[in-house]
Amino acid sequence: MTPKLERAIVNCFKVRHGKQVVGTDKTNLVGASLEELTSVVQDLSEPSYRARQIYAGIYCRRLRSWEQFTDLSKGLRKRLEDAYVIEYPPVAKTFESRDGTRRYLFEVSPGQKIESVFIPEEQRETFCISTQVGCAVECLFCVTGKLPMRRNLSAGEVVAQVLSLEQCRGCAPKRLNIVIMGMGEPLHNYENVMKAVRLMTDKEGMAISPRRITLSTSGVVPQIKRLAAEPVIPNLAISLNATTDAVRDVLIPINRKWDIATLLDACRRFPLEGRQRITFEYVLIEEVNDTPEDARRLVALLEGLRKKINLIPLNADPWVPLRTPSEDRILAFQKILTDHSITVYIRRPRGQDVSAACGMLAGRDQAQGDLLHPPPKPVEESALARLGL
Ligand code: SAH
Ligand code: SF4
Repeated sequence: MTPKLERAIVNCFKVRHGKQVVGTDKTNLVGASLEELTSVVQDLSEPSYRARQIYAGIYCRRLRSWEQFTDLSKGLRKRLEDAYVIEYPPVAKTFESRDGTRRYLFEVSPGQKIESVFIPEEQRETFCISTQVGCAVECLFCVTGKLPMRRNLSAGEVVAQVLSLEQCRGCAPKRLNIVIMGMGEPLHNYENVMKAVRLMTDKEGMAISPRRITLSTSGVVPQIKRLAAEPVIPNLAISLNATTDAVRDVLIPINRKWDIATLLDACRRFPLEGRQRITFEYVLIEEVNDTPEDARRLVALLEGLRKKINLIPLNADPWVPLRTPSEDRILAFQKILTDHSITVYIRRPRGQDVSAACGMLAGRDQAQGDLLHPPPKPVEESALARLGL
């Protein structure tokens, strides 16, 4: 391989994390596409069907060391071992909630932590995975948004969360749901996230149905339009969280760029198959967006859309100076929606006692508390004043 080509390939999917890779020149193949693996085997003067064997080994058989590739000759395994690794980011810590939810803290680079959450339910198991170290959207109610935005995760780091959680759980993929709702704004890391979605859904790869994958966005409209044109599209969830631009501008600052009307217009054009619907997530915040007028405005805004609504009572956190509504207010809000024949679920917090619930993911290396490094940015008084708080 020429040095230039080698650099190009390495830059495509090099993931330097963990002890084995740091300090070596080995390239991590987790996250490599079939085309990228084809250039790896061509460089080793091997026939291209070897790339399919390696691809199936990494993503379908979930192998983690070259010696497990018994369908490859010993000689080839040795040559692969000399230059490549199959490595997932190391799990730094695991926290188990009273309700069975588990938070996995991964160290993706020295000092850079991300989290994935395993949520057991009666009929299924859900993995919530991250896409960025931090998040640049800076939503007022979300602790992840208070962290400095460090970097995008690679496609390999995204799929490795699923592979790693599966192996920790030993659960069969057919019972699995993936929600791309962890740390970060997935549509700010479009290329890598979509590459990860292709690897997850490829029948020769991880073979997870796209209907079992949900991508949640705060509303990056140009990328929603781009997603609409993809050959493989996961389910779409929109974090709406407000019914007026005045409130949404403060809660989710990117609303100043793409307002509610623009966002919902993109949703109306989004392709949906069969019985598929768009999920609208609505974090209920006391006296900010939880009034009966808000509920009625929500009904009007979403008129004609094929949808379901997930109401998420705010998960309170020391870094979020907002309150969770009372149960009465939550149920009254839900009733207005159900009275209009809208499918509405109240998403009860899971894993709150280990900081694993929505909006609490912040790379904490303890179950709870506000000891974060570096400390998150405090919420500005002026933002609260604009919400009338
Ligand atoms: N960045 C993407 C996906 C990650 S956030 C997005 O915003 O959609 C996942 C979900 O958690 C979003 O619906 C968000 O509105 C919600 N969320 C964030 N902070 C929360 C909090 N403190 N309490 C409850 N839900 C929260
Ligand atoms: Fe980022 Fe989503 Fe949190 Fe907003 S809610 S800061 S978009 S992770």
